[in-house]
Formats: sequence, C-alpha cells, structure tokens
Amino acid sequence: MDKLLSVVVSVYNEEEALPLFYETTKPILEELSWDYELVFVNDGSSDGSLELLRKLAEKDERVKVVAFSRNFGHEAAMIAGIDYASGDGIVCMDADLQHPPQCLQPIVEKLEEGFGVINMVRTRNRSAGLIKNITSAGFYAMINLLSDVKFEANASDFFAVSSQAAEVLRRSYREKVRFLRGYVQSIGFPRICIQYEAQDRAAGESKYSIKKLFAFSMNTIMCFSNLPLKLGIYAGIFAALMGVAVMVYTLLTRQGAPSGYATIVILNCFMFAILFVIVGIIGEYIAILFSELKDRPIYIVEETENIGKK
Ligand code: UDP
Ligand code: MG
Repeated sequence: MDKLLSVVVSVYNEEEALPLFYETTKPILEELSWDYELVFVNDGSSDGSLELLRKLAEKDERVKVVAFSRNFGHEAAMIAGIDYASGDGIVCMDADLQHPPQCLQPIVEKLEEGFGVINMVRTRNRSAGLIKNITSAGFYAMINLLSDVKFEANASDFFAVSSQAAEVLRRSYREKVRFLRGYVQSIGFPRICIQYEAQDRAAGESKYSIKKLFAFSMNTIMCFSNLPLKLGIYAGIFAALMGVAVMVYTLLTRQGAPSGYATIVILNCFMFAILFVIVGIIGEYIAILFSELKDRPIYIVEETENIGKK
C-alpha cells in the first residue's frame, strides 16, 4: 500500500491565494510516489476562504478542512493540522506559495530514507525587506546565545515530520506559549535541512506585523531560556560589589560627605532602571506560567470537512 503524505496548509484570509495554491500544488502531488491528503486549517478567516475550502472539499475527497471558531494564529493552525493529519509524513506549508510545492518531491525522498525531521531552510528571502532580514538574524543570534538548543537561523515554518515525530508533537508539546519551529528542531530524530528559495507571495498580503513578530520573539526567548531570570542575580552581585568598592574607598580616604548630588541621582535612576526591568522580566515569566496554568485550548474547532474519510 502506498504511504500517505499529509500536507498541512494554514489559511487566514487567503481567498486570493488559495485557488492558485490548489492548482499549482495538486499536479505536483499527483506526481509523487506517495498518496496524499491536503489538510487545510482555516484560522478564522473573515473573507471567503472557508467558502472556497468547502467547495474544494466537496469536489475533491483528498482535501480535508479543519475550521477554527476564531483566529488562533499561525502556529495553532499548524498544530491543529498535525493533530488531524493521518499521514506517514506531514508537511506544514503556507497557503501563499512562498514555500515552493516543487520541494515536496525531495521531502518525500528524505522521508523515504527514514528522516524524522526535515527542516526547510531559506537561502534568501526576497519578499522580506532588509529590516526584516536583519531583525531575523539578530533574533536567531540572541536565542542561540541564550538557549541550550541551537537553532537553525532561517529555518522556516516550512518543515516535514515523520508520523513518529508528529506523535511526539501531538502528545508532549501542548504548551500555550510556544515556538513550534523550535520544538521541531529540538525533539531529536534523524534530521536534515533542505535549502529552498522563498518565493514572493502569490497574492494577498502578509499577516505578520512587526508588533506580532516582536511579541513572538520575546515569547520564544522566554520559552526556551531561563537566563533572563538570572539577570537579577547578576545585577545584584554587580550592585553589591560596587557598594563594597565605594565603602572601601570612603573608609581608606576618610572623606566626609562629598558633594555628589548628581552622582547619587544618576546612580539611583540607574539602579531602579535595572530593578524594574528585572521585575518586568519576572512578570513576563509569571504571565507565561499563568497561561499554562489556565490550560485553555490551543485552538477550538468549529467545523471539519472530509476528516476521517479515506
Ligand atoms: N496565517 C494563519 N493565521 C494567522 C496569520 C497567518 O494561519 O493568524 C497563515 C497565512 O494564511 C499563511 C501563513 O500563515 O498561510 C503565513 O502567513 P504570512 O504569509 O502572512 O506570513 P509571512 O510569510 O509574511 O511571514
Ligand atoms: Mg507568507
């Protein structure tokens, strides 16, 4: 029996790109040596995406649809796709054709060879501007410095996992504050990177704003590293040493109270700044603890099409 490849596609307001995606990807999937299914996850689109997906599912049994009750974000959509996919290999990709479907053939070959995790690495991101490329490089430098796990810079949301690796993600990685790409790189299994050139968006526009990306980066750093929490300890040691130095200096030189109003004010501001930043960091970690503790669902499914059908 043929093996099954599940292609998970997250969809958020992609009515323009979807028909293009389907028409481009379908013939490529037909050519594969594996059987396939397309799992579209509609992440609470407010345009006609869901309508389009329903129609596709009606005429094509290989199209499965999972529709969320509202927008839960790209990662939640990928997680749901993995949950609902039943393939021996699962590929996550975007609906905007930035991830070239031509890569599916090499992915299947690597899955055949027994790789558990296949990371698709961008060689060049044409559509992202200079600023996005620089901040992305900075982000990876920072996270690699702070975390034990070493991440592939330029690893994208385009990746494939074997059913065994997918099972690990389904069972054990249900965090609310998360970095899916990071999990994929940290679960082990034989892993390989394939390079690809990111294409321009086929239609529509990017849904990631700078603000979203910043929040995303902060969360990622905090969910993979405890180092920021130790900042308080280092700052404390630094302040203590400084205090001792000034004390010794004062005792040795036997100076009375020198006129140093400005110095004191500056030092005070400086110290309070460090203190508040540290309190803020602790607050952020508490916020993460709180959301894990509440244990709200990662996503809520309102409707499915063709799921469970052969
Ligand atoms: N996406 C999603 N939920 C969101 C935002 C985006 O499912 O809240 C999907 C979107 O439809 C696309 C993919 O995630 O298939 C990547 O989004 P986008 O192309 O906007 O990001 P970029 O490629 O610019 O980083
Ligand atoms: Mg895109």
